[in-house]
Amino acid sequence: MQRKMKFIALIVVGLFVVSFVAAGPKEDIAATVDRISPDQYKAVELLTGYLVQNGFKIEKGVAGLETAFIATYENAGGNGPAISFLAEYDALAEVGHACGHNIIGTSCVGAAVALAKNLGSTPAKVIVFGCPAEETTSGKLPMAAAGLFKRADIGMQMHPGSGQTTIGSKSLALNLMDFNYEGKASHAAAAPEMGRSALDGVMLMLMGTEFLREHVKSDIRIHGIVTNGGAAANVVPEKASARFYVRGLERPYLNTVVERVYNIARGAAMMSETKLTITEIKQYDNVVNVPSFMDAAEEVIKEFGIENARKIQPWDPAGGSTDFGTASSQIPALIFGLPVAPADVAGHSREYAIATKSPQGNEALVNASKIMAYLGYRFATEPELLDQVRADWEKVVSGN
Ligand SMILES: [Zn+2]
Ligand SMILES: [Zn+2]
Repeated sequence: MQRKMKFIALIVVGLFVVSFVAAGPKEDIAATVDRISPDQYKAVELLTGYLVQNGFKIEKGVAGLETAFIATYENAGGNGPAISFLAEYDALAEVGHACGHNIIGTSCVGAAVALAKNLGSTPAKVIVFGCPAEETTSGKLPMAAAGLFKRADIGMQMHPGSGQTTIGSKSLALNLMDFNYEGKASHAAAAPEMGRSALDGVMLMLMGTEFLREHVKSDIRIHGIVTNGGAAANVVPEKASARFYVRGLERPYLNTVVERVYNIARGAAMMSETKLTITEIKQYDNVVNVPSFMDAAEEVIKEFGIENARKIQPWDPAGGSTDFGTASSQIPALIFGLPVAPADVAGHSREYAIATKSPQGNEALVNASKIMAYLGYRFATEPELLDQVRADWEKVVSGN
């Protein structure tokens, strides 16, 4: 009964707060729709400004990123669970907010303020991680490398979607790598025997990865391009390069495949008598899905009257990768999705960008704020639930 009372109070205050957020910063952020991802200064000002007004302390420029921030609110001394919301606010070149990150940033701020206002005498910390450039340079990677997410015990985010409410996210871990071959230039007709072709190295590597494809699990994706194929057709190529993505559903297995790709690349260098340099550009982990976390989210989503929420269990082969995965390998972090458009509207499209500013987009923003605030409230006030989710997460991450 007591829980129910608090729950009602939360909804009332939460609704007020998120309505304010919905009417305020989101409209302004939407106005920055033509801004591409590195240009997120205005969004950061709007989001942190509202958090400051509501008693949050802000650290800007964390992990060496000008547009990354951490906002913290300490309730009743702050010595309790640290509940976090992982905000994003970058837009896409040309199509603007066609991934709905304008709703992600604002719903995280709405949830954080609603939670902070409703904790009463419960000691807790409320944290908003401002994570820039998800679509491009992946702000969560340096933030994770700096150990920032570990300041929280748990994290969450609503990423808008199309069609259906979803809980959990199957995403692919990835490694992005450059393979640079260096050979010996020579006249391609007059003295080919004096040359060693870097392009041969690249081609043999491409060929080898094609044979590898047959002998890996079906979730593995290997896709690459030739980024440098030589400078002139009458010169044995001295330098040649390929860029590859290797992806898979689970980080530990993916690591073994990446090692096999390395071996193929090394073998190609040996065959072509060229020198190989491998450069790791970036890595994402897969999003770690924790069953008890998804269950708790489903319960709360249903309490807010949203039926037919679908927990993601089987792999959706259309899945991509996200830097959220790397955050979720540092703390238990859940993604859920509320639809802002019908199923046939694709993300990263102009139609989707319009949908994020529609009445359905606003409704998703308000609902996401309420759902995350109440989930956060439950973790702050039900230590056994938090312990359970953290223990389950440990198990999934360690592969046991
Ligand atoms: Zn996107
Ligand atoms: Zn996105």
